[in-house]
Amino acid sequence: MSEDKNRDQLRRYFLMGKIPFALDESTYHRFSERNTVFSRVGWDTSYRAFRRGISDREAELVGRKGYSRFGFAASPASWMVHDYFLREFSQEEAESLQSTGFTQVSSNLPRYESGDLNLNSDRVKRLAQIFGACDVGIVNIDPKQHFIYTHNRKGKRINLPNGIKHAIVLLIQMDYSALMTSPKLPASITVGNAYSRAAFAVGCMAEAIRNLGYQAIPSVNSMGPSVPLAVLAGLGEFGRNGLLIHPKFGQSVRIAKVFTDLPLNADSPINFGAVNFCRVCRKCAKSCPSQSISDGEPTWESPWNTPSNNNGVYKWYVNADTCYDFWVRNATDCSNCVRVCPFTKPPGAVHDGVRFFIRNLRFLNRFWVKLDDFLGYGKSKDPDDFWKSEIYLNQEMKR
Ligand code: SF4
Ligand code: SF4
Repeated sequence: MSEDKNRDQLRRYFLMGKIPFALDESTYHRFSERNTVFSRVGWDTSYRAFRRGISDREAELVGRKGYSRFGFAASPASWMVHDYFLREFSQEEAESLQSTGFTQVSSNLPRYESGDLNLNSDRVKRLAQIFGACDVGIVNIDPKQHFIYTHNRKGKRINLPNGIKHAIVLLIQMDYSALMTSPKLPASITVGNAYSRAAFAVGCMAEAIRNLGYQAIPSVNSMGPSVPLAVLAGLGEFGRNGLLIHPKFGQSVRIAKVFTDLPLNADSPINFGAVNFCRVCRKCAKSCPSQSISDGEPTWESPWNTPSNNNGVYKWYVNADTCYDFWVRNATDCSNCVRVCPFTKPPGAVHDGVRFFIRNLRFLNRFWVKLDDFLGYGKSKDPDDFWKSEIYLNQEMKR
């Protein structure tokens, strides 16, 4: 089959929902974590945000609405568990972790032996819930390791240890009312909080698996791009803004994973109409303050010339350079594209009903987008309300 025909078939299958994404083997190459913007700010002198951090403008913005002194204290603090424990207890730091005893196996029992893959899978999913995940899936690592980085952000080659066959993918829920204040500081606090809880969850998961006598590498953003692994693990679909859309939690989740050789059953990808909804929705592209999200149909190549995009997948590309530029200007991160996404809503009978129609009656999608706008969903909420404990209590009681 010619390359064009192959691409065309993959593209059609993707848009019909027959495959979770379309990857062109002839042009796709594994990615290095050094090419993510978070790494490039440290080494890429050609990037205009070289050596610019999101705290650079704190002093300029503090005191403005949404940028309170408490916010600037809480936002970096929310990342503490993730950052303090050496990048989510990951392989990159394994040697120093072992020297501090963090990854020592703490069980004296012999290795756990069970051929019951269903039981093992169910137990690890329950463990993930206990440690804080709102949903969990399992994916087989493909032999070509498409979604494992070639190098970590220090430039060291990543070699998965022999025998690692699966990734357990965990979703950690973020706080809906905080997200609704994006791009102000309260939204950043729930993002950092979710990353810290993700680091805690995968750290505990990996320790439990090692205690069973198997290998386990915890990771949040390291080791490989999380979104494709989550899609393959049956946790959702790719959104226009490059993030996962979960059928229940929408985009109000962060993703983490544990790579392991514990024998497990993989889950299958799901399709609930999200990709086709994105084709008509475009709310994230319209609401992005830096116009970093593709507004048209998916493409095989990025429209932007940046090393932070990886061509060869038929998808909507996001300009990570201009996105991060906005974060620097904003003195904190941004979740506007998550805030406005019609899938980012608390669960409830009405929203579940709409999700049923999105899954089954595609021709109504434009109507749902218009209704979402009409009802004012996704509008930025007053960041001052986030700090009122009484309002928070009332919201919790309504859940
Ligand atoms: S995080 Fe903000 S700046 Fe970045 S793509 Fe989303 S909306 Fe745009
Ligand atoms: S805002 Fe709309 S287009 Fe963007 S990810 Fe959500 S559903 Fe897709």
